[in-house]
Amino acid sequence: MKEITSSEFDHEVLQGGKVILDFYSTECPPCEALASKFEDLSKLYGNDIKFLKIYRQQNRDLAEKLGVRSSPTLLFFNDGKEKGERLTGGIKRSDIIHNLDFMLPDNKLKEIKAQIKPSVSEYDVIILGAGPGGLTAGLYLCQSKINTVLVDIALPGGQVSTTHEVSNYPGFIEPQAGYLLSHNMSEQTKMCGTVYKVAVDVTRVDLEKKEIVIDEYETIRAKKIIIATGTTPNRTGAAGEKELKGKGISYCATCDAKYFDNKEVVVIGGGNSAVEESDFISRFASKVTVVHQFDKLTANKKAQDKLFSNSKISIIFNSEPRSFIKQEGRMVTEIENLVSKERLKLVSDGVFVFIGMKPNIELFRDKLQLDQWGYIKTDENMQTSIPDIYAVGDVISKKYRQITTAVADGTIAAMAIAKELN
Ligand SMILES: Cc1cc2nc3c(=O)[nH]c(=O)nc-3n(C[C@H](O)[C@H](O)[C@H](O)COP(=O)(O)OP(=O)(O)OC[C@H]3O[C@@H](n4cnc5c(N)ncnc54)[C@H](O)[C@@H]3O)c2cc1C
Repeated sequence: MKEITSSEFDHEVLQGGKVILDFYSTECPPCEALASKFEDLSKLYGNDIKFLKIYRQQNRDLAEKLGVRSSPTLLFFNDGKEKGERLTGGIKRSDIIHNLDFMLPDNKLKEIKAQIKPSVSEYDVIILGAGPGGLTAGLYLCQSKINTVLVDIALPGGQVSTTHEVSNYPGFIEPQAGYLLSHNMSEQTKMCGTVYKVAVDVTRVDLEKKEIVIDEYETIRAKKIIIATGTTPNRTGAAGEKELKGKGISYCATCDAKYFDNKEVVVIGGGNSAVEESDFISRFASKVTVVHQFDKLTANKKAQDKLFSNSKISIIFNSEPRSFIKQEGRMVTEIENLVSKERLKLVSDGVFVFIGMKPNIELFRDKLQLDQWGYIKTDENMQTSIPDIYAVGDVISKKYRQITTAVADGTIAAMAIAKELN
C-alpha cells in the first residue's frame, strides 16, 4: 500500500498495470470505516493489484479532473484505463472484492481466496445496528467499561442521518440537521471506546450461540446481543417500483429532494413522514402532488396545517399507485381512485414514497417472539424471548417510535446488561 500525490498519478496509475486508488480525506467517518478494509485487502491482493491512497484535500485539481467529488471514492484502473464501478460513501468489503475480482484471472483468484483465514473475536456485548438506540446502548455500556462492538450494515447514524431536520430532540433550541445530530451521537460513543464494525455484510446471526458472522469470514461472539436494527420504508408493491428504485423513485427526501429544483414531484402517503417531507421537498420542487389512500390525511394537525397553506402542494385523496414507468426521462405514475375505480396518469420528474415502515428482522425472524406486525416483543428491561438477547428502538413492539424513545430503550438495555455483567 502506498500514498501518492497528483504528480505521481501518471506514473503510478496510468502506467501502473492493475490499480485501486482511494481518494480519502481527514475528519471523514466513512474514510475511517474504509481504512482497515483497504489495508486488510491490500495484504490479500497486494501482489497482483497496486493499492494506492491519495489525500483529496491536497490533490484537489486531480480529484476535480477525474470527477471525484466526495471522500472516500475508490477508482479501479487496468492498463491505464478506469474499470468497474466507482465506490463512494459507506463502502463494503464485498463491493471492493467484487471489483478487484474482475481484474484477475480465475487461477489467481483461487490462490487469493485460499489465503483468507476466518477470524474469531470475543466481546461482552454485540450491538446490531448503530442508530440512536444502538449508539446510546453503546455509550452506556462503554461508560460501564463493558467491552462492546457495534455492527452496522451501513454507516452509523440510522434513520436520523437521512432526516433533514429534527426539532424535537431535547437540549437543542434550534432544529438540528439530522446528519449532524446522528454524527454527534456516533462520535460520542466512538470516542468513549466502543469498537465499530460498520458498512459490513452481516452474513449470519445465531442468537442461541450468541454469535454473528460478518463479511463471511469474521465470527464475533459475545455474552449478550442487543438488536437495534430499526425499520425500512415500506414499498407500495405497484408494478415498476422495484426497477425504478433510485432511478426515479426515492424513499428519502433529505437524500434526494435537492435533485428536484424547479421540478414536479409526486409523493405517495399521508402520515407524518409524507406530510412533513412534502413540505421539505416543496423548498426545491415547483409542484408537489400528494397521493393518499384515505379521504383524510393521518399526519398531526400542525403538519397538516402547514401543508394546506403551502400553495405548491396539492392532494389527491382515496387513491393508490398501480404502476410506475419512465418515459422520455419523466416518471408516469398510474393511480387508481379506490371509490370510483377510475385510473389517472400523473407525469412528474420524480416520486417519493412515505407509507410507513417494516421492522428489520430478516436474520432472526423465526427465533424471537414477535407481535402481529412483526416487531420484537420485549420485557421492561428490553429482554426478548431468548435469554441474553435484548432489542431496542424502532424494531421492538411499542406504540411510539421516535429518537427519544429509541434512546430510552438503549439506555434501559445497557443498564440492565451492565448490572448483570458487573
Ligand atoms: C423521514 C423520517 C423522519 C423522522 N423524523 C423524526 C423526528 O423529527 N424526530 C424523531 O424523534 N424521530 C423521527 N423519526 C423517527 C426516528 O428516526 C426513529 O425513531 C429512530 O431513528 C429509531 O432509531 P433506531 O436506533 O431504533 O433505528 P434506526 O435509526 O432505524 O437505525 C437502525 C440501524 O440498524 C442498521 N441495520 C439494519 N439492519 C441491520 C442488520 N441486519 N445488521 C446490522 N445493522 C442493521 C441500519 O443500517 C441502521 O443504521 C423519523 C423517521 C423518518 C423515517
